[in-house]
Amino acid sequence: MKKIQIAIDGPSGAGKSTMAKIVSKELGILYLDTGAMYRAVALKAIKSGIGTKDSAALAKMVEDIDIRIDYKDGQQKVYLDGEDVTEDIRTPDVTVGSSDVAVFPEVRKKMVDLQREIAKTNSVVMDGRDIGTHVLPNAEVKIFLTASAEDRAKRRYEELKEKGTLKQTFDEIKQEMEYRDKNDSNRIVSPLKKADDAILLDTSGLSIEESAKKILDIVRTRI
Ligand code: C5P
Repeated sequence: MKKIQIAIDGPSGAGKSTMAKIVSKELGILYLDTGAMYRAVALKAIKSGIGTKDSAALAKMVEDIDIRIDYKDGQQKVYLDGEDVTEDIRTPDVTVGSSDVAVFPEVRKKMVDLQREIAKTNSVVMDGRDIGTHVLPNAEVKIFLTASAEDRAKRRYEELKEKGTLKQTFDEIKQEMEYRDKNDSNRIVSPLKKADDAILLDTSGLSIEESAKKILDIVRTRI
C-alpha cells in the first residue's frame, strides 16, 4: 500500500506537535516529532561534557549515537543509547542546545537518515523545520504553520505551566524562542523555510480546535 507523507514545518511554538498529533490520530498514521531527535543529540553532548557548538566533537559523537523512537499507549518515547529520555530532553538547556547542534551537517545527516528510514516503512506525519524542503520533498501534504511571536510564546508558557514543568519566566521563554528562530532560520544547511509548495497557515488568535479544523480540511482535500 502506498505510504502517506504529511510534513508540518514552522517556527517553535507554532503548535506543530499539537496539530501533528491530531492529524496522526484522525488518519491512524504515525506521528514523528523530529525535534526530539535533535534534542537527544544536545542531551548527549551536555551529559558528555561536549560543547553544543563544538562541531568536530559533535560530528564524532553522532557517528555511533543510538537514538530510537518508540510508541507506548500512543505516546512517543525517545531512547538515547537505550535510556528513556522523553522527559529529560525538555529542559531549557537542552532546548537551546538542540538549536545549536542542529546547525551542523554531520548531525543533520544522521537525523535525516533516521527520519527517512521511518517514512520508508510507515505512513507518517512529521513535524520539524526542514521536512517539506528536505526530508520528505515529495510529501502529499506540506503545511507551514506559524503564529505571531507573542502568541507562540504565550502558548509555550501555558503548555509548560499545564504540564507542571515551567522553569522559566514568560520573557525568558520569549527570548529563547527568538534565539532559536533566528538560529534555525539563518543556518546554512536546511534552514527553517517554507517549501515553495507548502500551504502557509497562520494560527494567530485561533484556538486549537479552529486550527485543527483548518489543517484537517487541507489534509482531506489532498489525500
Ligand atoms: O521542534 P523542537 O522545538 O523540539 O526542535 C528543537 C530544535 O531542533 C529546533 O529549534 C531546531 O533547531 C531543531 N530542529 C531542526 N530540524 C527539525 C526539527 C528540529 O533543525 N526537523
